[in-house]
Amino acid sequence: MSEEKEMITGMEAPMYLTYNFTAGGATTRFLAELRNGKLVGQECPKCQHVYIPPRGSCAACGVPTVREVELTNKATVQSFTIVYIPIPNNPIKPPYVIANLMADGAHQSFLHLISDVDNADVRIGMRVEAIWKAEEEWTHAMENIQYFRPLDEPDMPIDEIGRLKNA
Ligand SMILES: [Zn+2]
Repeated sequence: MSEEKEMITGMEAPMYLTYNFTAGGATTRFLAELRNGKLVGQECPKCQHVYIPPRGSCAACGVPTVREVELTNKATVQSFTIVYIPIPNNPIKPPYVIANLMADGAHQSFLHLISDVDNADVRIGMRVEAIWKAEEEWTHAMENIQYFRPLDEPDMPIDEIGRLKNA
């Protein structure tokens, strides 16, 4: 009998983290508006880029973004991925689509779920709208939006996604 042992090259070790997040002023206002069912970004006074979620300053100009801009429920798919790997405790069963979405009037994308569509039909430039949960379920979280679903609108050309109107 051989003395050779089988080499172990990997093992599964799921890890979970629970942490507290200190929101800060800009994010606190954003989360408070989410609790009211509104998506509110902040505009840079120099370059007019609208950030959502806002971080309180413009990453490009380094100036405070104090002017708040209420956005609609409409957005455009900037990029996306189809998730096939199940995530423990996630009620959403794969395969499902997670997309970088550019809200109308905003210049920074955020991640959210795309649903009510065949995964194969999701594409860059696709117009979508937010479907909110029932109001009594709203908290201070982007999860107040259950998912985004396609709008019956023409796709946005890729080079126009997230661009300033006159840029
Ligand atoms: Zn700026």
